[in-house]
Amino acid sequence: MWGELHEECGIFAVWGHPKAALQAYWGTFSLQHRGQESAGIAVLSRGDISVHKGMGLVTEALRTEEEILREGEAALGHVRYSTTGESSLVNAQPLLMRTRFGPLALAHNGNLVNATELREKLADEGSIFQGTSDSEILAHLLAKSSQSRLEEALLESLPKLQGGFAFTILSREGLYAARDAHGIRPLVLGRSPDGGTMLASETCALDTVQAEWLRDVEPAELICIRDQGVNFRPFVAADQRPKRAVCAFEAVYFARPDSQLDGQSAHLIRRQLGRRLAQESPVAADVVVGVPDSSLPAAMGYAQASDIPFDFGLVKNRYIARTFISPTQTGRESSVQLKLSAVREVVAGKRVILVDDSLVRGTTSRRLISLLRKAGAKEVHMRIASPPYTDPCHYGIDTSRAGELAARTMSLAALRESVGADTLAYLTIEGLAEGLGAEKGWCMACFGAGYPVAVPSLEKGMPSHV
Ligand code: SF4
Repeated sequence: MWGELHEECGIFAVWGHPKAALQAYWGTFSLQHRGQESAGIAVLSRGDISVHKGMGLVTEALRTEEEILREGEAALGHVRYSTTGESSLVNAQPLLMRTRFGPLALAHNGNLVNATELREKLADEGSIFQGTSDSEILAHLLAKSSQSRLEEALLESLPKLQGGFAFTILSREGLYAARDAHGIRPLVLGRSPDGGTMLASETCALDTVQAEWLRDVEPAELICIRDQGVNFRPFVAADQRPKRAVCAFEAVYFARPDSQLDGQSAHLIRRQLGRRLAQESPVAADVVVGVPDSSLPAAMGYAQASDIPFDFGLVKNRYIARTFISPTQTGRESSVQLKLSAVREVVAGKRVILVDDSLVRGTTSRRLISLLRKAGAKEVHMRIASPPYTDPCHYGIDTSRAGELAARTMSLAALRESVGADTLAYLTIEGLAEGLGAEKGWCMACFGAGYPVAVPSLEKGMPSHV
C-alpha cells in the first residue's frame, strides 16, 4: 500500500447555526492554505445530508452551490491536498455513507499508520471499500460495531486507529469530532455569537466567521455536539494516554500566522524561532529578507535579534498556489519562478541574509538564491528557522519521500553548494524545542527526534510508502 492516500487537509464544521452551510463555506474558505486540490461541503437539512464537492479552490469547487448555501442546520466543509497524484473527485471529502446510524458525512485530516492492517482485516471480514480514504476505514469500523448508538460505536472504534488524525462526522443526531491520542493533527472548538458550535483545523477559520475560540480539542477526546448539549468523552483512559505530540511543523510552517496553536500565536512562535536562530547562527550582513509569506515573522525575529535591518527583498504573486503543496516536482519547480521575484533596490550590492522557515526539498531555496543573485545581491546567507528535515512524516504532511529530503541525502556543505548560498545554517533542535515551549509536548519526528507513534512499515523494514 505504498501508494495509499496521504494528505494534509482542512476541516470546518458547525452545528446549530441558522446559516450553517454558509458558515461552513466561509470557514473552509479560510483554510484554503491547507489544501487546494478539491473542496467539499456536507449539509444537514430537513433530516437528510447532501454532499457537494468539486476540484480546485473552494470558490471554484463550490461556485454553483448558492442554493445549497442558503440551507442547513449543520454543515461540514473540507479542503484537500493529496500526495498520490490522483487529483480526482472520487477522493474529495466529505464522504457520504449510508449506515445503520443513518446518513453520515465524514471528513478527516491526517494519516493512519495502521491503515493497511485495518483495511486488510476489514476486507477479510467482508467490508467492501469504495476508495482509499482513512475516513472509509472509520465508517466500516462503525458499521461493524456492536453498539447501537453512534457515540458508543465511536468510543469503541477510535482506539483502533493509530497515527495522526482529526475526524469530524455529521449525522442527523449530532456532530462528532475526535483528535488522535497524541494530538498530532490540530482541531479547535469554537462558539458563534449567533448560536452554533464549531470545529476547525485552525483558529483563523473561527475568526473568519466571527466565532469565539473556546479551546483546542484534547488528544484522545471525542466531542459529541447535539441540540441537547455537548458531551466530552475520552476514548483512551487517562492512565493509558501517550505523551502529547502536537505537530511542530504546523507551528513552523503550515498554520496561518494569525492562527493560535493551543493558545500560542503562530506568528509570535515564528518570530521567536527567528530570534533564536540569530543568536545561534549570526553572520555579518546588510539586510535580512524573509521568504514571503510564512517566513516573514522568522525573518523579522532574526533582524530584531541581530540588529540588521529587515526589508522586503522578495515579493510574491498572491495568485499562485503555495509551492510546497504543489503535487508534482515539475509543478514545484515552475511555480517558484511564477510566484516570487526579487526587489533589486533592496538587495543589489548587499550582503543578504535569506531566512526561510524550513528547507525540505531544496528546490525553492536554489531558485530564490538565484533570483537574489540575478538582482545583484553580493552575498546570500541562508538561515533556516527549523532544524534539518531528515525524516519523512507519516502523520499527514507531504514531506514524505525520504529520497526527496535534501538534509537527509546531502551533507550541510553539499547542500550549501547545491542551493548556491555563501553560508547555510539551521536552527538547532534545542532551539526549536525552546521556541515552541518543550513542556507542551510536540512531535518533531521529521527533525530527527523520533516518531511518537510507531510506523509499522518502518518496523518491518519496508520502504516508506510516503
Ligand atoms: S513528523 Fe513533522 S510534519 Fe509530521 S506530524 Fe511530526 S512534526 Fe508534523
